Amino acid sequence: MKYTEQAFDRAELELRRRQDNANEEHQRRLDEIAQNAPEIYRMHSEAIRLNYALIGNIGKGKSSADVSKKIAEIKEKNINLRHTMHEMLKACGYPEDYLQMHYQCEICNDSGYHDGVRCECMKKLLKKYTTEEINANCSIELHDFADFRIEYYSDAPVNGEIPRVKMQTIFENCKNYATRFEPHTSSLIFFGKTGLGKTFLSSCIAKELISQGWNVVYGSMLKLMRQVEDERFHRAEGDTMSIMLEADLLILDDLGSEFQTQFTDSVLYELINERINERRPTLISTNLTVNEVGKKYNDRIVSRITGCFRPFFFAGSDVRLVKLRNGII
Ligand SMILES: [Zn+2]
Repeated sequence: MKYTEQAFDRAELELRRRQDNANEEHQRRLDEIAQNAPEIYRMHSEAIRLNYALIGNIGKGKSSADVSKKIAEIKEKNINLRHTMHEMLKACGYPEDYLQMHYQCEICNDSGYHDGVRCECMKKLLKKYTTEEINANCSIELHDFADFRIEYYSDAPVNGEIPRVKMQTIFENCKNYATRFEPHTSSLIFFGKTGLGKTFLSSCIAKELISQGWNVVYGSMLKLMRQVEDERFHRAEGDTMSIMLEADLLILDDLGSEFQTQFTDSVLYELINERINERRPTLISTNLTVNEVGKKYNDRIVSRITGCFRPFFFAGSDVRLVKLRNGII
């Protein structure tokens, strides 16, 4: 996967910050032990001195029997010393590894590389920062579930159903979806006219999942498709397609708003199909009706959507108009 230069810079900065934190915490613990248990501190210093002596002797090579004997002696002394030190730490109420360096990633010691290969922790950071860049370019504002206002939906029946009751159920479903999210959860599609809160509730789900540490890519179909197209035809750097394919949740806002071509249709199918095959959920919202989706897109796309997405039909009047009427905006 291709990551942006900015993502590399941020990942390196973050890893440096983690290493600094580990060093600072280690120093703080040493100072604490030096003050509270000087005997243990002396043993720790002696253990470090023995380590250096060991390295020095190993550097001489094993040709001489004297050197080999010396190395064995130092090793044994060091093991005994560390054992005693660990026992004393425990007796003083500390964990036995209290004076060891503690890195966030024990595989690469927060360096980002292990055996010359990029460590998983570094890959995770690169993915996170690249995703953030894509999301920032798509400029969808994120919201909290707490900001959802059910009073904007009418409690008068329309075509035999009450919008407020229906939207309350959808709201609860969205909230549960976000709080109980797991990687193989179902895909959703929000149908409804403009201004009924589809983007709002999608953005609430995105915000909640991001706060839980999930990797969420969200954006309007228009902007995401344009970005993929620009990258495919070398007008822009990046690998938005891979990031979208691998996100824990992909949110495609406003399906139908994209400038539809064979290319965008094939990208849409690849996204939906591959994510279904990998059992990764996708959330689509659209102003189109079910019939319009059926007419606008080819059978392959439609059958994947109708077969694998759980539909929600938003109800009510344009919330922005309701706010305007009530003098809120
Ligand atoms: Zn690592």
